[in-house]
Amino acid sequence: MLVAGAGLLLALPGWSKVDILIQQVADGSLQKPTVRVQSQAAGSVRFTCVGRGFLKTSTLEQGDSEELNPANYGVYQFRLSAGSDQSRGLLPLEEGKRTEVLITGTASPDRSPRFTSSSGELKNQAPGEPIRIPNPFGPAFEKLSIDEKIRLVEDSPEAQSLSSSERGQLLGILYNEKGVQEANSKNFETAEEILRKAQQLLADENTVRMNLAFAMAGNGNQKRLEGSFNLADKKLGEALALAEGSGDGSLVSQIHSARAALYVDQALAMPGSEQRRRTTLFEKALEENPDHAAALFNLGQIAYQEYDLETALDYFERAYQQSPQPDLAKLIDKVRIEIEEAGDFVTQDRGVFKISFEGSEVKHVARETRKLLADAEREVGRKFVLRPKGAIPVVIYSAGQFQQILGLHSWAGGAYDGKIRLPIAGLSEADIDQGRDKLRELVFHEFTHALLHNRTSPAHIPVWLHEGLAQNAAGQNPDNPMLHAQLIDSLNSGRIPMPSRLAGDFTGIADPGLASQVYLESYLFIKYLLDKQGGWSRIKSLVSSIEAGESLEASFRKAYRKSLDELEQRWIKEL
Ligand SMILES: [Zn+2]
Repeated sequence: MLVAGAGLLLALPGWSKVDILIQQVADGSLQKPTVRVQSQAAGSVRFTCVGRGFLKTSTLEQGDSEELNPANYGVYQFRLSAGSDQSRGLLPLEEGKRTEVLITGTASPDRSPRFTSSSGELKNQAPGEPIRIPNPFGPAFEKLSIDEKIRLVEDSPEAQSLSSSERGQLLGILYNEKGVQEANSKNFETAEEILRKAQQLLADENTVRMNLAFAMAGNGNQKRLEGSFNLADKKLGEALALAEGSGDGSLVSQIHSARAALYVDQALAMPGSEQRRRTTLFEKALEENPDHAAALFNLGQIAYQEYDLETALDYFERAYQQSPQPDLAKLIDKVRIEIEEAGDFVTQDRGVFKISFEGSEVKHVARETRKLLADAEREVGRKFVLRPKGAIPVVIYSAGQFQQILGLHSWAGGAYDGKIRLPIAGLSEADIDQGRDKLRELVFHEFTHALLHNRTSPAHIPVWLHEGLAQNAAGQNPDNPMLHAQLIDSLNSGRIPMPSRLAGDFTGIADPGLASQVYLESYLFIKYLLDKQGGWSRIKSLVSSIEAGESLEASFRKAYRKSLDELEQRWIKEL
């Protein structure tokens, strides 16, 4: 069944002209989101799908198709290149849906370099001692390709003159050679299959065992890069067991490194809220490779967020030994100063908000924040007719210049992840005077996230609705004529889906231009509901239904007597 279709025309500059059509098809058999890319374009196009923990690039010739299976659903980005021309847009990937991408048109020749993986390469093993076997096929045999040799030994009448053990050995040697070829061409899956056959025939040959371990490790590493973490884990585990038995220290340590990289990738693909599982994975990575810089750094970050400064410092210093980067040196200095300043965290225990400072308390910032939070509680609370239950932790930290914090995007700057995080400890009293309106928007925005989370969790409000509500409740207005025109263009062309199809986390959208557009989209849709569909009282019933555990669709019908889809269609007409 065709659920949604958005035709989109992407004319690439130059003499290539490539069109792309995206549609989503419901498929009850799918556990994970699936992207099926097919190219009918004359010439060579490259299609990249990138999102949370997933990056896959395919070069497609006319008639080629490819299926991609990211592990998570959410908003992914696609990039399409034909020759040196590039275009990009969003792919909303939902559970149980297949997203079909059809590329048509004509592409100019691919002049740009091909995508290559930067991951750890595994080295191949040198073949061992030759085994002598009679040659019943004559001298021409040596000149044949490996496939032809295998065919002859498997099928030809001449092969009947060999004893079954000789024939087995010869086939084993040929399979081994073929497997090494395939592994060298990075066809690890095929290599593994063929080398398994070789190993059955030459069970005592350490070289074959090593080659098989190498191919399995390569296969596992490839699965890691594709985001199939469980399969990668299984393959690398098998490869390790095989390599350990054969005593090749260098291959063993390469596989340990590949496993460390796997656990780090797996952890980084998880949302920040999965802190405990991420920590476990980073620790597992360190068991495989105690010097893994990314694992050390991330464990340092986690300790730092939990204000375990000593532990954070230790991890950061170890990461720095492996990867001496100037930014990391600065961070280490900062943590050292924070430890020295001790007295550490001053906690304001009055009321709903538990305000703490990372580093020492800044009195005027504390005073202003407490006042703005109290305003937010009253004013935002009145809109939703909700008060927070229990305490809301607020962490104030210092992060660079005021302009950078509150400069470009009204939505950027703060964060809510169970705690309201405000990067405002470094503001002077003059900064606060000049930027009070922005500061107020920032605090109101994060408070709205906190309030909705606090009252509706574990029921789920999708990110687009959260951001639309937070921006409107905070009185922010990200609209401007240029961004507005870009958004309309993106919606018309299908590069950006309708609000309700913006599944998942916006932080996965790496392109700041696209990110601005989806924040604006979320803002404008909620603004339309507020202006034209019954104001805050309807929003209030919507949130109540969600809080009561009703589905998003049912909650919209209940509050608006219209489906979400219908509301979106009406909105787009007025846009
Ligand atoms: Zn937000």
